[in-house]
Amino acid sequence: MSDCLFCKIAAHQIPVKAVHEDEHSIAFPDINPQAPTHWLLIPKQHLANITEAPYEVLGHLMKEAAALAKREMPGGFRLVVNTGDDGGQTVHHLHVHILGGRHMGWPPG
Ligand code: AMP
Ligand code: ZN
Repeated sequence: MSDCLFCKIAAHQIPVKAVHEDEHSIAFPDINPQAPTHWLLIPKQHLANITEAPYEVLGHLMKEAAALAKREMPGGFRLVVNTGDDGGQTVHHLHVHILGGRHMGWPPG
């Protein structure tokens, strides 16, 4: 989608310091980190949110997010997929938040 921020990042039209990239996805630091480590993993394909994503995309994203997080945060981490207004989603291109480097409270805010 031409006016989508994360599509522009995926297409390298907006530069980021990628922490991972493959044919289907790219991960980069969140611009407003909520934890010592806070990355976003996005599919290169535009999908508005998790409800639009096929099994293969979700499988790839979750496996990759877990691998990235385990490598960087062996003590534990949290994966978050905000969805829709009540879910707190502000960028309408599917993304997995990868958070760690501190103890995560529960329930989330
Ligand atoms: P969400 O609220 O779940 O839709 O998350 C969107 C996330 O994108 C927020 O945590 C923002 O801080 C982050 N964000 C917005 N613009 C950028 C950007 N240019 N680079 C990196 N992260 C961004
Ligand atoms: Zn997009």
